[in-house]
Amino acid sequence: MARYLGPKCRLCRIEKKKLLLKGERCNSPKCAITKKKNMPGKSAKSRVGKMSDYGLQLREKQRLKRIYGMLEKQFKLTFVEAARRPGKTGENLIRLLESRLDNVVFRMRFATSRDQARQLVNHGHVLVNGKKVDIPSYLLKQNDVIEVKDKSKKMILVKESLKEYTRSGVVPWIEVNPDEMKGTLKAVPLRSEVIDLTDINEQLIVELYSR
Ligand code: SF4
Repeated sequence: MARYLGPKCRLCRIEKKKLLLKGERCNSPKCAITKKKNMPGKSAKSRVGKMSDYGLQLREKQRLKRIYGMLEKQFKLTFVEAARRPGKTGENLIRLLESRLDNVVFRMRFATSRDQARQLVNHGHVLVNGKKVDIPSYLLKQNDVIEVKDKSKKMILVKESLKEYTRSGVVPWIEVNPDEMKGTLKAVPLRSEVIDLTDINEQLIVELYSR
């Protein structure tokens, strides 16, 4: 599956926000946003100023897409599915993004970033309800059980990542047994529960794709 392979910090600098794309390294003082580096590119200064409605909508979409590490085609398909479902499209979009296997593996602290979680899934280290699933965009349902494959439980990467579980636990809609490297998606969260996306205005994304 295609994914962005360029420098991740550049994406944060474009969005002027910490998108936390590098796991633990994002907490270091070396983070480009902490160091207040300017927007990348020679014309960055000329881009400072009042943004058009379209510009605001586009930035919001880019930001959400980058947080979940997705490319345009895949993100648009997720939006189309969100619009097809009953209820508010913006809320459906966030709920669909939260249901992705790579996101849940990251939320369970089996990986330090969504990018790393995607690699774990791609390389076949993750089971869903006892069966190998190597599709990062696989949509999970309530009560699905996700675990690291027995043979992969020795992986330093997972062990190191789970240290974050000890430090800060997991989001309330997820339950994890760190010793078994196994967890359950207790429920797909409501939009209002995803508090680390509070500053995202998904309505702007709906407006953008409705143009
Ligand atoms: Fe973004 Fe993390 Fe890089 Fe900071 S260290 S700029 S949060 S990817």
